[in-house]
Amino acid sequence: MELKEIKVKTVVNKHKKRDSWFLDDYSVNPYKLCDFHCVYCYIHGSKYGSRSSGYVEVKINAPEVLDKELRKLERKKNYGYIALSSATEPWMHAEERYNITRRCLEVIAKYRFPVHCLTKSSLIMRDADILEDINQNAILPEDLRNYDGVLITFSLSTLSNEVAKTFEVNAPSPKDRLDTVKHLLDDGFNVGIAYMPILPFISDSEGELEAMVKTAKELRISRLYFSPPTLYGKGKNKFLKVLERRYPDLVMKYREIYGNKHSPCRKYINEFYRKMKRISERYGITPIY
Ligand code: SF4
Repeated sequence: MELKEIKVKTVVNKHKKRDSWFLDDYSVNPYKLCDFHCVYCYIHGSKYGSRSSGYVEVKINAPEVLDKELRKLERKKNYGYIALSSATEPWMHAEERYNITRRCLEVIAKYRFPVHCLTKSSLIMRDADILEDINQNAILPEDLRNYDGVLITFSLSTLSNEVAKTFEVNAPSPKDRLDTVKHLLDDGFNVGIAYMPILPFISDSEGELEAMVKTAKELRISRLYFSPPTLYGKGKNKFLKVLERRYPDLVMKYREIYGNKHSPCRKYINEFYRKMKRISERYGITPIY
């Protein structure tokens, strides 16, 4: 996917309601679309994907716009976690060249906002110095005073490097991601793992879910999330095409559990919850799912 530089008028999205899983009141997306090309990416089916030009758009003035917007929020003392990012990968390959995310983090540090980094990328390590600054100095909302200034959550859909090559075409391997998680934990950051999305009939066996929980437990991860994929619009067609090519036997099964809906049917979800409950109890952890 090619890159296109664009200028934006706004970059901070204020949520109507705080996200109950990731605690963000705001989100900032330094890019539009993503060069990691995950097949299940919900953006393909969303308004961002359907209105896209087909390029990864680089918001080249995002740091300057962010500066203006955070200055206003800081004056009103409207502190809250900024999700970086909700609709793109902030440390995608293009970031190596553009440094937009790094410069946005510098602005976030300047205004002392807390940040929740949602990523699959080992490039986040490059910015550990700024994240450390934010962790030390961020001002948290009153009701989240006991939290850290920086939360980092890595997402994985599988522990298998082979499966990941099919569904997360250009992203760092699961092993690379878990190695980065270890480094960040060693550096003292609050790191979570989001096994999102868990791929029905591919990464949802009791054995693989247990291996995921065990991995997180061994790493002493404090936050753990699980969720199946949301598939709709163009994104659903794209996903089913890959499935036809790589897992033809599963196409009917997906059609059965998804039908014309975005999420798997209640029967599948209930079975998934039962598995998660059994495994969680075995390991004495409380994941969010
Ligand atoms: S890394 Fe995230 S934003 Fe990028 S393609 Fe994958 S799911 Fe989509």
